[in-house]
Amino acid sequence: MKFRNFKMVDYVVYGRGCFDQLDEIIAPRRRNDAPMIFLLDHYFRNDDALKARIPLRSNDLLIDADVDHEPKTTYIDELAQQIKEKHGSVSGVIGIGGGSTMDIAKAVSIMLTNPGKAQDYQGWDLVKQPAVYKVGVPTLSGTGAEVSRTTVLTGPTRKLGMNSDFTPFDQIILDPGLTKNAPANQRFYTGMDCFIHCIESLEGTYINEFSRSYGEKAQQLCEEVFLHKNEWDAESDAQLMMASYAGGMSIAYSQVGVAHAVSYGLGYLLGTKHGIGNCIVFNHLHEFYPRGVDTFRKMVEKNKIDIPQGITKGLSGAQFDTMIDVSLGMAPLWENALGEDWKTIMTRDRLRGLYEKL
Ligand code: NAD
Ligand code: ZN
Repeated sequence: MKFRNFKMVDYVVYGRGCFDQLDEIIAPRRRNDAPMIFLLDHYFRNDDALKARIPLRSNDLLIDADVDHEPKTTYIDELAQQIKEKHGSVSGVIGIGGGSTMDIAKAVSIMLTNPGKAQDYQGWDLVKQPAVYKVGVPTLSGTGAEVSRTTVLTGPTRKLGMNSDFTPFDQIILDPGLTKNAPANQRFYTGMDCFIHCIESLEGTYINEFSRSYGEKAQQLCEEVFLHKNEWDAESDAQLMMASYAGGMSIAYSQVGVAHAVSYGLGYLLGTKHGIGNCIVFNHLHEFYPRGVDTFRKMVEKNKIDIPQGITKGLSGAQFDTMIDVSLGMAPLWENALGEDWKTIMTRDRLRGLYEKL
């Protein structure tokens, strides 16, 4: 048995309002004339109050991160090219936004120091050069992208992360005040990503005490905010932000499972977004995660959320095959969920039946 020696985020600052320490935190990382690049989730493009808090100095650059679609490798290449042409060398990249913006920041910082195209690094441990200094600032809680060693990208042939020791952020700024205005639906979908990470980690065959400790806490916090409280308040933002962090830590040392494996197929073929896709799938996974799905359904009801139905209706056989190929390609997820014999348990026919229900 070989145990994973995993790279973590170097520095964490947590607390309501801590975003205002960003200037001071990044100051020692500024090198001569090399600018800091701020990638701001385009949702905030007209938010003058937030923009006024971004510590832009001399030739720093503020770029709107386009997250209408989840990040594609071609978009990463474009951004990295644009930054290199304009500035040559940079002091750092700071991603402020949801999981998509944070992933864009991680990937761009890698592509500023590594040759070739982003698609060349989709996989495990393919990145060879350290990235430029990078900072993650979540404005939505749930994905765990702030702590993970991956950045999920859709490339020409697959949806797969750049998993490497050079992927985690050097610094994260966890300020629950930044999530306070997120719309209830979006907050729920992204929050459920965390809840599902916990169930898949806790119910998986890879579970161990490290992952269980974080997973149980994160699950409890998710249930606290989505099930046991009647009003969303400042404490809820703080609780969900820590749930996201702990959920990310839980899967870092275990793995996700059936919902993620199936949802990746939907994302690849239909562009279904990660949070909502996981909800659509998880709703139909009672046979795999009975208690988790019961709790999930209670949370859906309590928060009056619509989970879309019938999204695979009318798809062709070839389209189902594409989703099945993408999904079955995620071997570690299936092995975690169903054990070493997963291939005999999750046959193509059974998976097709599952996709047809969505
Ligand atoms: P997102 O980043 O895709 O954003 C969803 C929408 O919410 C966007 O329109 C965005 O502009 C908007 N938004 C962001 N902050 C907001 C706020 N405070 N208020 C209102 N709207 C806001 O959503 P997400 O669920 O955070 O992230 C999903 C992405 O994260 C996917 O691309 C997925 O692949 C990725 N992901 C990565 C990891 C990882 O470990 N790297 C893990 C899970 C998911
Ligand atoms: Zn997820």
